Amino acid sequence: MTYLDRALALKDKLIALRRDLHAHPELAFQEVRTAQRVAATLHDLGIEYETGVATTGVVARLGEGAPCFALRADMDALPIVEANDVAYKSQNAGVMHACGHDAHTACLLGAAMLLSEDLKQGKLKGSVKLLFQPAEENADGLGNSGAKLMVEAGALNDVAAVVGLHVVSTLPSNEVFVRAGPFMAAADAFKAEIIGRGGHGAYPQEALDPVWLAAQAINAIHGIVPRRMDPTQHGVISVCVVQAGVAENVIPELVRLGGTIRSFDPKVRRQLIADLEKALSIARVWGGDYTLRLLDGYPALANDPQMAEFARGMARDLLGAARVKEAELQMGAEDFSYMAQAKPAAFLHLGAKKDAASRPHHSPVFDIDEAVLPTGAALLAEAARRYLTGNA
Ligand SMILES: [Zn+2]
Ligand SMILES: [Zn+2]
Repeated sequence: MTYLDRALALKDKLIALRRDLHAHPELAFQEVRTAQRVAATLHDLGIEYETGVATTGVVARLGEGAPCFALRADMDALPIVEANDVAYKSQNAGVMHACGHDAHTACLLGAAMLLSEDLKQGKLKGSVKLLFQPAEENADGLGNSGAKLMVEAGALNDVAAVVGLHVVSTLPSNEVFVRAGPFMAAADAFKAEIIGRGGHGAYPQEALDPVWLAAQAINAIHGIVPRRMDPTQHGVISVCVVQAGVAENVIPELVRLGGTIRSFDPKVRRQLIADLEKALSIARVWGGDYTLRLLDGYPALANDPQMAEFARGMARDLLGAARVKEAELQMGAEDFSYMAQAKPAAFLHLGAKKDAASRPHHSPVFDIDEAVLPTGAALLAEAARRYLTGNA
């Protein structure tokens, strides 16, 4: 029996686990009940684990010694009011598993169920580490997210390689998407102020209208990607916050701008930031001023080419080549990138489209096809089994 056959036999158990987690979602760094549920399941399997890693994370180890292969899941939910009318609807007001991290946690526990027997019986040489990380969706006030803190806590020190996966509600169910090299973008945020001088809306010559200055700055910002960036590269700057004024006849003092900067190449990232500064400095040409604060986000996620090919071959053998596709570059970000910077890594996308409705990630109607849970568990377990048996 393959891990996929065995995982399919666990389907009801995995669905029950995922629904329990879905009904009790917890925000970043507050995954207390979730971690308890993870720990209780590991305990029942006779697997040793440590809690309180990187705040609310759980790290478990199966087997002994080298090589040590790591599998990662994230556990946190989002501040969203769930709009789905389902039996497993969120019971925590204003909190929702709207990105599928409940599924990731269930899949990794499923992988633990599949691997624990084989490791106990000594069928696999080496060990498997299970990384249940907190806080993928949000970093603390110091810019630390769950994966970053896990790396800093040394959870990956003895790890030879690491694999993680993400369900994707917009991709065909039970298809796997793999990509070597750059995969998901670096995400930085910015907050800026365009400063003018307030005054009467009827007498602009006596004021310095920051709305007029901001309009020029925004126009310049929107020209950075098409006119300043190398067209063969990838990047985006979106201005998502524009706030100014309270009265129709008052020129305000300042305009607040905010937005996101996405890139893959560190050189492109530096250039986008430098050009953003130039675009804002247009305010100074007219005697105004600006401030700019950059909030460093997750670095770009690049899959190790060898690990990506390892994962592609593994997925093909497990699911059949027709269900394994080349992944597209994603402008979305993922803090697994910190683990991928620390160790050879592969991150997979697992299609999980539930039905004909549009259920995008981070939306109140997000949901997945639960038939992917056994597939996810089998993919994780099989990656570890292959690595440890040298059957790569
Ligand atoms: Zn998300
Ligand atoms: Zn996510």
